[in-house]
Amino acid sequence: MAYDADNIFARILRGEIPCDKVYEDEHVLAFNDISPKCPVHVLVIPKGEYVSFDDFSAKASEAEIAAFTRAVGEIARAAGVADAGYRLIANAGANGGQEVPHYHVHILGGGPVGPMVCR
Ligand code: AMP
Repeated sequence: MAYDADNIFARILRGEIPCDKVYEDEHVLAFNDISPKCPVHVLVIPKGEYVSFDDFSAKASEAEIAAFTRAVGEIARAAGVADAGYRLIANAGANGGQEVPHYHVHILGGGPVGPMVCR
């Protein structure tokens, strides 16, 4: 799937629309989800143009992958959810229920997150 440069997270990265930023470094941006599903609901995105985890894992540099992984842990600790626990979700593609086609991880916590999958 080709990257759509008009997706909402690309527009946030370009500063065209605002976000509630919680973290930023050279490779990563994180902000609070606009429609939180838990008391803590942070989205972590790479700054590079990757559609999904599949795309990111195949094409991102070692530096981008390392920065992203380190950032997710740092953001979870800073949000205060590391000790009590939290869930990471990366929806991918149609069957995964991905709505925004720019790779992102959801950090969900601040209380019990509930069953892993409801069908
Ligand atoms: P996904 O279904 O994994 O693609 O999740 C996309 C997420 O992006 C949803 O949880 C939305 O609530 C969230 N979202 C959409 N637009 C914005 C926005 N402008 N700022 C913050 N979060 C957003």
